[in-house]
Amino acid sequence: MTIEQLKQDVRNVPDFPKPGIQFKDITTIIDNAEELRFMRDKLVEMYRDKGITKVVGIESRGFILAPAIAIELGAGFVPIRKHNKLPAETIQASYEKEYGVDIIQIHKDALSPDDVVLIHDDILATGGSMVAAIELVRKLGVKKLYVNCLIELEGLDGRKYLKEKEPDVEVDCLMGIEVDE
Ligand code: AMP
Repeated sequence: MTIEQLKQDVRNVPDFPKPGIQFKDITTIIDNAEELRFMRDKLVEMYRDKGITKVVGIESRGFILAPAIAIELGAGFVPIRKHNKLPAETIQASYEKEYGVDIIQIHKDALSPDDVVLIHDDILATGGSMVAAIELVRKLGVKKLYVNCLIELEGLDGRKYLKEKEPDVEVDCLMGIEVDE
């Protein structure tokens, strides 16, 4: 198994969920046992020596691999969810989407200043949701923060936006795919 093989197996769905969007569908790589394990193993290898205590997944596709990585790293899993989904006391951050504003939330007591956190999502596109997720994690005062995505959509400048907003955060993605590929 190689990253190149994995890239080829991500399905591109044109015009979903609306005209003009090239949707990168990861269901075609997570349904393959070998590819699923390969991704899990690669991510664990990348963060094994970082002392990660919590893996934070962003709803909803960040929930697919984050718990698997957390288990292997001996860390806990923490969800960042869309507005009004978490039951206890939360803090929130908002970010602009193409149409309107989205709100994400995390439980106020989910992280502590001793935590070393890895935030994981499936795709880094414009970077808006990741910057909001970083803002939430920072507000809870953690010791150190890493950011990871399976796929970086090249051509959308998400990494550049992240670097502008969060110059000190280490960002790593498993593979880069051209947005129009
Ligand atoms: P952004 O905030 O623009 O970086 O968008 C990242 C989030 O939107 C991720 O959680 C992705 O799951 C989703 N997303 C954005 N663009 C795409 C795309 N072209 N294909 C699949 N998912 C996408």
